[in-house]
Amino acid sequence: MGKNILLIDKLNKTKELSKEEFISLFETFNDEDIEYARSLACKIRDEWYGKNIFLRGLIEISNFCKNDCLYCGIRRSNSNAERYRLSKENILECCAKGYSLGYRTFVLQGGEDLYYTDDILCDIISSIKEHYPDVAVTLSIGEKTYQQYKKYFEAGADRYLLRHETANESHYYKLHPNSMSFKNRIECLYNLKKIGYQVGTGFMVESPFQTPKTLAEDFIFIKELQPDMVGIGPYIVHHSTPFANEQSGTARTTLFLLALLRIMIPNVLLPATTSLGTIDSNGQINGFLSGANVMMPNLSPAKVRKKYLLYDNKLCSGNEAAEFKVSLVKNLKEYGFRVLDSRGDVAKYPFVDRLPK
Ligand code: SAH
Repeated sequence: MGKNILLIDKLNKTKELSKEEFISLFETFNDEDIEYARSLACKIRDEWYGKNIFLRGLIEISNFCKNDCLYCGIRRSNSNAERYRLSKENILECCAKGYSLGYRTFVLQGGEDLYYTDDILCDIISSIKEHYPDVAVTLSIGEKTYQQYKKYFEAGADRYLLRHETANESHYYKLHPNSMSFKNRIECLYNLKKIGYQVGTGFMVESPFQTPKTLAEDFIFIKELQPDMVGIGPYIVHHSTPFANEQSGTARTTLFLLALLRIMIPNVLLPATTSLGTIDSNGQINGFLSGANVMMPNLSPAKVRKKYLLYDNKLCSGNEAAEFKVSLVKNLKEYGFRVLDSRGDVAKYPFVDRLPK
């Protein structure tokens, strides 16, 4: 048997690899290794979640951002970005629409927009929970203090998505200006866990300057953090950023890494991301065929969707649009998957043990 197949088996058995082993795997994987990992990952996903896919309605609340991440289309310095922000009423309208479509998780994502004071955010969060007590509210609005995260949690937020972006400090500063802090981002993730959020982290696949070594560090960091969710998708070029001439990442590597994440953390919530669907027209289905079990269709008001442009050609129509749920369900059914209208919390026990006896 090939050396990489043995490493994948070892990851499955011990749920960890050394840094050297990860590096060797990332340096040398071939198509056979990818297929092996993907089918193992599907088996594990089925053990923990069956063929069930969870949906989250993604509401992109603002594309104003005080940060200047070098890869991101809504970075502060991109003067070509047409800025918008949603009011509480706009957001509640999105929730009403999403609720009637069967969505039971709303993800509020945005740039770091100082318009949303803690009071405004807490009011939005508690209003959503008041109207829809059976939904989970997920926030994805960047770095805040412990006290702020705690306030949002107390107002009713259940989950928080904050990708670490890279676990290698010097890589971090190639992707972000020095005004940002690697240590703070990592600390934020531990603070979120401590407060009691279900936490999602993640990184872009094949971001500029990513190497087998930085990727190995990502996997080791993720293993240590033990997040409930890990979002990964290919890095995709945005033409108005300093990385305009860099290369986008590939679906191939993303599918391999998705599978390895499922193998390493069997019960993790793993989204088939919009960027995977953008780089490859069948990307998200292929993501589910690599062990993914979550999708986050776009529930933002139609008129702002094109403005939340993190990268070029970002999908926001077709199955990516929350209102296309019927066609999405049909499409997933063709591959044997079923969409559940539930909050879709992380599984604490294998699927078979949760079935009525
Ligand atoms: N301000 C929030 C939300 C950021 S957008 C935060 O800081 O968490 C959500 C994610 O989109 C980012 O974490 C990043 O990993 C991803 N992203 C940004 N630009 C991208 C690009 N050019 N290609 C692919 N993914 C990108």
